Amino acid sequence: MKITIKNLTKKFKDVVAVNELSVDINDGELVTFLGPSGCGKSTTLFTLAGLYSQDSGEIYFDDILVNDIDTEKRNIGMVFQNYALYPHMTILKNIMFPLTMMKISKKQARDNVDEVVELLKIKELLNRKPNQLSGGQQQRVAIARALVKKPSVLLMDEPLSNLDAKLRLQTREEIRKLQKKLNITTIFVTHDQDEAASISDKILLMNKGKLQQYDEPRNIYDNPNNLFTAKFIGSAPINTFEIHKIDEKCYIHNTNIEINIEEDQFKNTLSARLIGAIRPEDLVVCSKEESHFSAILDQIQMIGKDNLLVFNLNEYKFRCFTSPEYKISQGDRVYLKIRKDKLHIFNSETFNNIK
Ligand code: ATP
Repeated sequence: MKITIKNLTKKFKDVVAVNELSVDINDGELVTFLGPSGCGKSTTLFTLAGLYSQDSGEIYFDDILVNDIDTEKRNIGMVFQNYALYPHMTILKNIMFPLTMMKISKKQARDNVDEVVELLKIKELLNRKPNQLSGGQQQRVAIARALVKKPSVLLMDEPLSNLDAKLRLQTREEIRKLQKKLNITTIFVTHDQDEAASISDKILLMNKGKLQQYDEPRNIYDNPNNLFTAKFIGSAPINTFEIHKIDEKCYIHNTNIEINIEEDQFKNTLSARLIGAIRPEDLVVCSKEESHFSAILDQIQMIGKDNLLVFNLNEYKFRCFTSPEYKISQGDRVYLKIRKDKLHIFNSETFNNIK
């Protein structure tokens, strides 16, 4: 099922939790709502589910306006962070529960249950109670319960946050596999950008109720629309710095490091300042001759297979990746080159990317 959100706004008194959000979600896509705590991800999800009513805007499922349609009639399955299983019921009864509200035959109900039990491989858990299950098992049951009605949309609110790191990774792979197999339109809420990037067709990045960018994970990483997106996406923080124009030449603020900026990049600003940003993998250790600048190494951090080098340069911290074969110690001078084709330039007033 296709979902269309048009100018959706949801307020809680004077807090605008969702602010004029518009987005199209294609049939069968997995879209992640991503953003910092309080940015409006869950509120958007709950409004789509009909658990909250919108203040303005429209929500369409396929081409049907669902603004005033009750949750039960929206044909959605929901999975919550705390799984929300009924503690006094067996797992079988928990999974059956959504079907008991529907007028379907016992045989049909049993078939639906058998199907999700098989899909999620939870047959041996059916006679237990939720408190006799691990977090990962409870999560599978919660997904089974969400799918048993064969919903058109699956809505998941931080479904993995109660699992340990390893199980999180494994479970997100399973969710993605299942979602593709069923080809069910899915919305997944998380504040974990790695999780979002790894399972999504598209990420909807929000901040303070507003859409920042909606695109495929790779495009968001490579082409951030604005400074917030550039900073939020990327496990190792992007290097940012002010660029000042002095006598027709541009420099990293308070340094003599010259950055070539085309004149028309200043066209939408009266200021003589821009903001530059370069990802740590695009700041490259090189020879003195090739370098744009040098700095003294302050810290070495091991990040996966690589080392992350941290330098202080006036008020800025710069970070770059190197392979562990590159031998270097704290206090050494390092020569660095900025990959110019990877340099992002932002307007210093609007913080929008100057493409
Ligand atoms: P988190 O990642 O912490 O769950 P979120 O991005 O899902 O955050 P929301 O829970 O949607 O954010 O909250 C968005 C804003 O709306 C916040 O400022 C929050 O305090 C406010 N808010 C959310 N629910 C309510 C409520 N029921 N009553 C009043 N304010 C609320």
